[in-house]
Amino acid sequence: MTITKKNLLATYRRKRNFNRTSEPEGEITSSHEHPLFVVQKHKGRNLHYDFRLEDGGILKSWALPKGPSTDPGVKRLAVQTEDHPLAYATFEGVIPQGNYGAGPVMVWDQGTFKNLKEPVPLTDCIKNGEINVWLEGKKLKGGYALIKTHFHPKDSWLLVKMNDKYSDRESSVTTDKPNSVLTHKTLEEINREDNGHE
Ligand code: MN
Repeated sequence: MTITKKNLLATYRRKRNFNRTSEPEGEITSSHEHPLFVVQKHKGRNLHYDFRLEDGGILKSWALPKGPSTDPGVKRLAVQTEDHPLAYATFEGVIPQGNYGAGPVMVWDQGTFKNLKEPVPLTDCIKNGEINVWLEGKKLKGGYALIKTHFHPKDSWLLVKMNDKYSDRESSVTTDKPNSVLTHKTLEEINREDNGHE
């Protein structure tokens, strides 16, 4: 079901010309029983990871300069960015030069999540600046906390792995598992192959 709350994606749409990028214009759709999460690896001006959680038919989004960690002792900066359409969860390809965020985008991880603060709705957790989720991804699993900070820049949060059986203090999930969960391609392959089609 599509609901018309177009203003929810106004910032996302204002930044993009959909005649010039293959990114989805998107619709706001009703929530699934099991909400989606996605982590995209994106080389825009800088390499970063975009962490997105489905809420109210859209994807709430944070940019992680260093990506997620599986070590509960490590806090990773997560800067909240504009809401994205749900269809973005499967977007992999190259945003052409001259467009917002130009560069290759990979679906680095994907799955469903559970809001551990239920019955408090995720929307309220975001407003309160404290999100606890259980991720069921292909790479990321278990509890993660996203905590709003008062640091510069504004909209800064910290992503921290919670202590559970999926905690891993030894290895780096971003280094050890660099490829797409959709196509198994590297970011370089996505960049090369997409540009080859032009
Ligand atoms: Mn990005």
